[in-house]
Amino acid sequence: MTRVRFAPSPTGDLHVGGARTALFNWLFARKTGGTFILRIEDTDGARNTEEASQGILKGLRWLGLDWDEGPGVGGNYGPYFQSQRKDIYDAYLARLVASDRVYTEENGAVRFKFSRTAITVHDLVCGDVTFAPTEEPDMTVRRPDGSYIFHFVNVVDDIEMKMTHVFRGEDHLSNTWKHIDLFNALGATPPTYAHIPLILNSDGSKMSKRDEGSAIEKSYMNGGFLPDAVFNYLCLLGWTPRTDSEKLNRQALTALFEPAEIHSSNARFDLAKCSWFNAKYLRELSPEALLAESRPFLVEAGIVFEDEVMAAAAVYSIKEKVSLLNEIPAWVHYFFREDYPFEADVVAKLQAKPENKTLLLAAADSFEHLVEWTDAGIQQSIEDCAKASSVKPGALMPLLRFALSGQSRGPGVNTIAHLIGKTKTLSRIAHTVSTQV
Ligand code: GLU
Repeated sequence: MTRVRFAPSPTGDLHVGGARTALFNWLFARKTGGTFILRIEDTDGARNTEEASQGILKGLRWLGLDWDEGPGVGGNYGPYFQSQRKDIYDAYLARLVASDRVYTEENGAVRFKFSRTAITVHDLVCGDVTFAPTEEPDMTVRRPDGSYIFHFVNVVDDIEMKMTHVFRGEDHLSNTWKHIDLFNALGATPPTYAHIPLILNSDGSKMSKRDEGSAIEKSYMNGGFLPDAVFNYLCLLGWTPRTDSEKLNRQALTALFEPAEIHSSNARFDLAKCSWFNAKYLRELSPEALLAESRPFLVEAGIVFEDEVMAAAAVYSIKEKVSLLNEIPAWVHYFFREDYPFEADVVAKLQAKPENKTLLLAAADSFEHLVEWTDAGIQQSIEDCAKASSVKPGALMPLLRFALSGQSRGPGVNTIAHLIGKTKTLSRIAHTVSTQV
C-alpha cells in the first residue's frame, strides 16, 4: 500500500506551490488506492503559527484535498503535528547514539556523522541524481536548546509514518542525500522520491509569496474561483496528462496521473489561463449550484433576496458574461433592487432621442396587455410593439434594457422582464420615463 504525505511548515498562507505539492501527493494516493497523510511540520516555534496551520487546512479543504490521516482525522501514526512528537525524536536520537553516528559538541549541539560516501537519489521525476561524498561539516540534528532540526524530524517521521513515496518541491532535492544518509544510519529504507519542478511567474522569475495569484485563500477562495477549476489548473503546472483535453475533472485527472510524466523543467504560472478554466467550469454549473457558489459574493455586495429560484435564474442568465464569481454582483444587482443606478452613458442614450419616451410608453402599454408573462410572450410583445411603432425590435430592445437595468449590457431583455415580473417591469419603465428621459 502506498503512503504519501503533504508536510507543510506553517509559516504563512497556503501557496500555489504547496497546494500543487499536496495535489500531486493526493492524486498519487487516490490513483494507487493508498493513504494521503497531512503532517504539520511545526517545530520552528518562532516562525510557525496556529493561524497559518488553520489557513493551510482551510485551503486544502477548499480544494477538496481530503486527507486520510492527520489533523482533525487522526490515524495510527499520530500525533500529526511535529511539535507534539518530541519523545519519538528523542528515541530515534538514542538509536543514533547507540550506533555511534552522533556526537555532542561542547555547547550541547548534537551532530550527525555523515557517511561521506557517494549517495544516489533515484528520483521519479529527476532520474538518478548522484551526490559526491560530502565535504560539508557534520550536520547538527539537535540544537543546544534541545530542539531538532528539519532534516532529522522530517526523516524520522517519514520512517515512523511509513511513507513509501515523497512528492515535494525540487528545492528539497539538493538536501535529499542528507535524508538518505539518515535513513541508512537508522537502518530504514528511504521512500521513493519525486521532486517536482518549481513554479515560475509568467515572466520567468521565481514565484514568491507576494506574487499575483500565489495565495490560495486571498487569490482564489476570495477571488471568485471555483475549487474544481483551480484543482484542474494546478495539475497542469508541471504535468501534461496524456489526453486531448486540458479540461479534466478529478476522476479523470486521478486516473491519468503518472508521476513519471511530471516535467523536470520548471512550470510557468498563468493566472489568465486559470481564469479561463474558471469560466469554463462556471458555465457548466446548474442554476442552483451557481447561486450557491456566488452567494458569498452576493452577500458581500449587499444583495438581498428571498426568492431562491429567481435568484438562481438571475445568476444563471449572466454566466456567459463572467469568468469569476466575484464579477457576478455587478451583473445582477438590478434584479434585486428598485433603486438601481443608471450608467452615465445609458442616461445619455435615453435622452438622445425625443421618441425614446414614446417608445418606452408604447412598450409598457403592450406589456400591460400581455396575459402570459413568459419569456416567449414578452419577446412577442416587444416585437409587436416595435412593429406598431414602425421601428425595428433592435431599436426598442436597448431602451428597455436601459429602463429595466440601468445598464447597457446584460442578459436578454425578455429574461430580465420575465424574472423581475410584470409589476416591476411596468413600474421600472414608468420610473425611467419620469426621471431619466
Ligand atoms: N516542511 C517542508 C516544507 O514545507 C516539507 C519537506 C518535505 O516535504 O519533505 O518544505
